[in-house]
Amino acid sequence: MTHQDWLRKAQTLHIESRLFIEGRYVDALGGGSFDCINPSTGAVLARVAQGEAQDIDAAVASALAAWNDRRWRRLAPRERMQVMNRWADLVEQHADELALLETLDMGKPISDMLNIDLPEVLRTIRYFAECIDKVEGAVTHTAPGSLHMILHEPLGVVGAITPWNYPMLMAVWKLAPILAAGNCVVLKPAEQAPLTCTRLAALFVEAGGPAGVFNLVNGLGPEAGRALALHPDVIKLSFTGSTRVGKLLMGYAGQSNMKRVALETGGKSPQIFMPDLYDLDAAVDRAVGGIFDNAGQVCNAGSRLLVHRDLQDAFIAKFIARTQVLYQPGDPLDPATTLGPLASQPHQRKVLADIARGQAEGAQMVMGGTQVALPGTYVPPTLFVGHNRMAIAQEEIFGPVATLIPFDTEAEAIALANDSVYGLAAAVWTRDLHQAHRMVGALEAGVVWVNCFGDGDMTQPFGGYKQSGNSRDKHVDSLLSYMQTKSAWFQVG
Ligand code: NAD
Repeated sequence: MTHQDWLRKAQTLHIESRLFIEGRYVDALGGGSFDCINPSTGAVLARVAQGEAQDIDAAVASALAAWNDRRWRRLAPRERMQVMNRWADLVEQHADELALLETLDMGKPISDMLNIDLPEVLRTIRYFAECIDKVEGAVTHTAPGSLHMILHEPLGVVGAITPWNYPMLMAVWKLAPILAAGNCVVLKPAEQAPLTCTRLAALFVEAGGPAGVFNLVNGLGPEAGRALALHPDVIKLSFTGSTRVGKLLMGYAGQSNMKRVALETGGKSPQIFMPDLYDLDAAVDRAVGGIFDNAGQVCNAGSRLLVHRDLQDAFIAKFIARTQVLYQPGDPLDPATTLGPLASQPHQRKVLADIARGQAEGAQMVMGGTQVALPGTYVPPTLFVGHNRMAIAQEEIFGPVATLIPFDTEAEAIALANDSVYGLAAAVWTRDLHQAHRMVGALEAGVVWVNCFGDGDMTQPFGGYKQSGNSRDKHVDSLLSYMQTKSAWFQVG
């Protein structure tokens, strides 16, 4: 479809703005709502029902009833699998609608929605559907007269709280394994971009998912999110978002029922470019994509570029030239656009303030600074040269801003890379396999890429070391993390 086609389609798009509880759309009990704003125009897209604690109570009660009468977990694995696969098929059938909704809602380029987010959403649901009857328990070796089985059982009602940067995908990284494992779920999406998740819940029921198994409450973090995190009937909370809120959630769990808390939080990922790397052009392209994809609103964004001093000048020249080719700001509904606005005005203000702080603390801005001549919350791609103790190198900016930090030795590069409270991801570019192997071992990160960046598939456990989190999305381990083992010991002789 062309830019004009998408603009026309946007005008007739139906937007559902209610909550979804017990298999149907409902208004918030308190009758409140909040504005959902298109960041590329500033227009109000919808007034979304604003759930509060009483709505969370209703959603959890619905999920608990579904859990207690076993309407989902008692289904044979193959039947659950069929529902999950039909769900994926429906998402695929509604791909244009979902892509458009999310582009309008958070400003992500429509081509990214169609080529990155949606295919990954489908892969995720189908992967975990496939896993359902592959999870096996065990019979352990015991003394004669005993039979010991280890069973994997779902947990109960799981709460999920998700961010706005990949609204549908981050939710599905939680929902697919939670549901595949046989749990019931209450999702609280980010208030900045809630529209696609609302549709996901309805499509699950349309696919044959029993009412009450997947409930959704939109609302503000400190109200609806907090109520979900404090709820005594929620046995596990699965969260993707900032480290600050992740810490709060651990506290809420302790204040309530000691629920398990799975956290996927922030990052400040280093990419290390050694002097012998194989292809500087290819490496620079991945450095550019690693920080400017999704306008830098990526948890594992390669925001710290550790570049060997011998490469520094050539690296910077190529980085600037390639950014100009690859990341031109534009209307996110134009399929040619690769750089959309940031997701909201407050976030744009925060990122611009971070850039100003970088200049104030003496970092050299070698690219950026010019205003984008478009309405909307755009921030131009920005590159600083600085050092690792600067705030711009320590704090997550979550925008299109990278800091290049030169180094001289491998040991120095590793020390700089690890000098962070975060440990989500890292990359090493080198042609020396021994060095790569050594550095993979030394880097404190949950994901390390060698001679690539951001690559992976569903077999890759994704999550962080240190304050980047304590759990893993994707991979069959994620499914198991929404189950618990039961030991069944039989006296048989
Ligand atoms: P955020 O922490 O502000 O919000 C995330 C969610 O938490 C939202 O749904 C929000 O409403 C909710 N929330 C806010 N305050 C709350 C409270 N007091 N109690 C309960 N819930 C509350 O994060 P964000 O700005 O939406 O997302 C950006 C962050 O997400 C970045 O730090 C990014 O690195 C992180 N992220 C991490 C990963 C990962 O896999 N590690 C992936 C994507 C994003």
